[in-house]
Amino acid sequence: MASSGSAKGPWGAPTLLGVPLDENSSYKRGAAAAPQLIRDALCCESTNMWTELGVDVGAEGAYEDAGDVQWNGDAFSAIEQAVEGLLEKRQRPVCLGGDHSITYPIVRAFGRRFKDLTLIHFDAHPDLYDHFQGNRHSHASPFARIMEEKLAKRLIQVGIRTMNPQQKKQAERFKVEIFEIGRKRALEEVKTWCPVYVSFDMDVLDPAFAPGVSHREPGGMSVREVLEHLHSITATIVGADIVEYNPSRDVSELTGTVAGKILKELLGKMLMACNCP
Ligand code: MN
Ligand code: MN
Repeated sequence: MASSGSAKGPWGAPTLLGVPLDENSSYKRGAAAAPQLIRDALCCESTNMWTELGVDVGAEGAYEDAGDVQWNGDAFSAIEQAVEGLLEKRQRPVCLGGDHSITYPIVRAFGRRFKDLTLIHFDAHPDLYDHFQGNRHSHASPFARIMEEKLAKRLIQVGIRTMNPQQKKQAERFKVEIFEIGRKRALEEVKTWCPVYVSFDMDVLDPAFAPGVSHREPGGMSVREVLEHLHSITATIVGADIVEYNPSRDVSELTGTVAGKILKELLGKMLMACNCP
């Protein structure tokens, strides 16, 4: 299938890219095993491929799969180059992590191509530390790197519930728009414009819905709340990631199933409109 796929507009099909990296996790490893399990959950025969908004993600050419990023030396360079390669072909990368550190090299590739990128970031954590345990590439720091390099015009964080003074200072420095947990219809209040990149950390969900994460933070969103947020995004989504699913912490593949559902709804949303130049 040509990269134009069945997607509307000048941009081609959303394209899965696995990023099996978890070496920048500060607490527990395991997220590197997630990419294939999320793919399996997406196509699991326990359900069908239609999204709740009526898009058939199982239609031929609806999405493509570029496999997993591979590297010998510098993982970040390999990730950035792989994403750049897809953007070059006008595909829309949907990256499956891996820990959240991968979002920095991914967004570096996007930042070169899109001048006015808006990031919509779902997470229990702001991930804005200048460094964490001495690691500037920690999974607790990607959005500090992204905003320092001015790779995005706007950073909107949804579901935050672990703010502290250190990160609050960073959020003010970078003018981050924060919607802490409990803010209903947050994204409807925000006038987003094309193009949007969605970074989805699985721990934005309550551990009751998604126990398979390294940092379980109680008091999070239900799956239904997440879907309402995703469905309310009106701008064109040019790329996305789903990160921090840690299968070694999962219970009965529950979190994998949720990750597959979120991926399906995200792909469907990407296919609904793409008018980005
Ligand atoms: Mn995160
Ligand atoms: Mn998190």
